Amino acid sequence: MINEDSMSVTLTGNPFVDTGLGVIAFLGNDYVDKLSVKTLGDVLGDGSQLARWNAQLKSFTMVFTVNSLLTHPGLKRRGVNVKAYQAVVTKLYESIGHENVRQRCECCGHYSSLDIDSVCRQALTPLGLGDQIRSIGRDWFPLTGSLGSDAQALPAASRSVHICAKCLFAVQYMPLGLMLYRGSLAAFQSTSTNFWYDYLRSIVETNYSIVKAGGTEPLGSKQGSRALLTQLIALMYKQKQWNEKTNMYMWLFTNSGTSPRCEIQEIPNRALSFLWEAVRDHSLRSEIEGTVSSEGKNLRYSLLSCILDGRDYLPLYPKGRWKGASPTLFMLYQNRILGSPYFALQVAYKLARQTQSVVNPKKIKELQKEEAFRHQANRSIIIRLVVEMTESGRLRLDDYSQLFPYVGGPGVKVDMNGWKYIRYYLHHVAEDDIQLESIGAIPDPSRVPLERIIRLSNLIYISHLERRGQERFKNDVLERMKNNSLGINWLRLQFLLLAERYPGFTYADWRSLCIDEKDELFTKELLYQMRLIWSGLIFEGVTQKVAALDVDPAPIDGEDLPEQIHNLVRAVFEDYIAKRGIDGFYQVLERLRRKELDLAWIRSKFDRLNLPFSDEIWRDFLVDSKGRSRRAEAFFQIQLAFVNRYRDKKFISS
Ligand SMILES: [Zn+2]
Repeated sequence: MINEDSMSVTLTGNPFVDTGLGVIAFLGNDYVDKLSVKTLGDVLGDGSQLARWNAQLKSFTMVFTVNSLLTHPGLKRRGVNVKAYQAVVTKLYESIGHENVRQRCECCGHYSSLDIDSVCRQALTPLGLGDQIRSIGRDWFPLTGSLGSDAQALPAASRSVHICAKCLFAVQYMPLGLMLYRGSLAAFQSTSTNFWYDYLRSIVETNYSIVKAGGTEPLGSKQGSRALLTQLIALMYKQKQWNEKTNMYMWLFTNSGTSPRCEIQEIPNRALSFLWEAVRDHSLRSEIEGTVSSEGKNLRYSLLSCILDGRDYLPLYPKGRWKGASPTLFMLYQNRILGSPYFALQVAYKLARQTQSVVNPKKIKELQKEEAFRHQANRSIIIRLVVEMTESGRLRLDDYSQLFPYVGGPGVKVDMNGWKYIRYYLHHVAEDDIQLESIGAIPDPSRVPLERIIRLSNLIYISHLERRGQERFKNDVLERMKNNSLGINWLRLQFLLLAERYPGFTYADWRSLCIDEKDELFTKELLYQMRLIWSGLIFEGVTQKVAALDVDPAPIDGEDLPEQIHNLVRAVFEDYIAKRGIDGFYQVLERLRRKELDLAWIRSKFDRLNLPFSDEIWRDFLVDSKGRSRRAEAFFQIQLAFVNRYRDKKFISS
């Protein structure tokens, strides 16, 4: 004969049932993965203690609605609610392994499930309450609908759910194992059973001491997200080791009232590992707890929400008299949660130190203020400093690009987060050599724009050296850049000159570097970055063919011309070559460059060809997507198409 008491009770994978089983393991002082039916019975006893706790905890009705036997108003009035509950829970326990409905349990997969109506009749008839027909609904198991009455019914409102006695029994222990989080109850799951159970235990321990002291509010009540986080931190503190793959899931639900709901939120490994590292490797427990304890009411800005959403957390930053988080916590958060490269923060730190050493204290105070870098004048101080540092070899464009990485989309634009970092470190320059070496870097952002900018800059530099030498370059280019007197026309000219000799300087390439997502010319950042490259080259004493010429990113091909105009350009080119030869055409290029020939000349050439060409196409070509004139740009675009054709032809024929 099978000894039923020793029958093992295993975890089911259902978060509600497993929470109940975890609570039972805690109360029975047993291993959660080695529970037996006997332990379940020992913990239940006569059921009076369970009934008392559940009647006491406010979370009970959020789990089982107010219609549960224990809280049903009618039964309460008659004073039989506790007895009825106790009797049925005891009967549920006794039915484990004796279910007689030949349908699998939809929670754990057990081969048969419980006839709740018959169980209730047996338990309640002695109390004079056995006359009602009962089925499993939300008052027996969270979020399961009851037949015929509940629009939110699961499964699919067509029948009541099949559940075995063990599962129905276990969930009665849930209230002790749940915490409140953002107005919902939270049950947990994890990829690691040990971690899950340790966390559950820490919740049960707290709830247990609450009920023993006569409390009614479960853990987390009125604490926003703080309880969940401090509970996690305390747990991390106790963990001896950490599995880098552990994830956790929160089942946030409520079953009460007319709108039961359930939402699953992941607590990803990234978040857990961050807490583990912060608490265990960097002794940041008290700092985090201190910061969290002064959080405001808005949960969206809480540390936990920010960690979960991968957003920046404002209290890390200096504000008023608050100097912000310690550099270790700051760095850890930026690197682990936001994925900012470790190196970027180092560059910010370096810049802050340099600023500190060259800028007067009064100005430093101003730069430390919250809004400081919203002002162009303040940003300019740093921008100039970056140039000076590249001129003296203390910084490279590479470093700058780590701190101000490119943002996607057309045009050369950079992310502005770097300013926040610089401002943070302006408050922490004294704390030198922050022990951050232990924090590994996350891979750098795309280098593609950087490589194209390097190639462009190097080739401009070389061709200037060839024609006029380094001194002239300093005067003609760098000095003029300092005064902001080099702009779009100069850059267009460089493109035209380079396209004569090198492939890859197409209009598509130009567009991707110089025109932003609003279809506007934007070259300020590009020119600034080129300036940094040239300052670096001059510092390194590069006077001839630059090594970095082997930077050869895949060129972006394309004239980007409307088809009719593309055909006309080709026809004009071929016609000219046929009549005057390739060198004759070069003279045309020179005259276009000197603006002796203009758009009207091009138009007249087009008109003379016997090819389809409409006024409408031409008009459209001369305005941008917003209807603004782009005559200068259009002229440049056709010129560039001519130059590229010229170079291809010349290259093939020579
Ligand atoms: Zn089951």
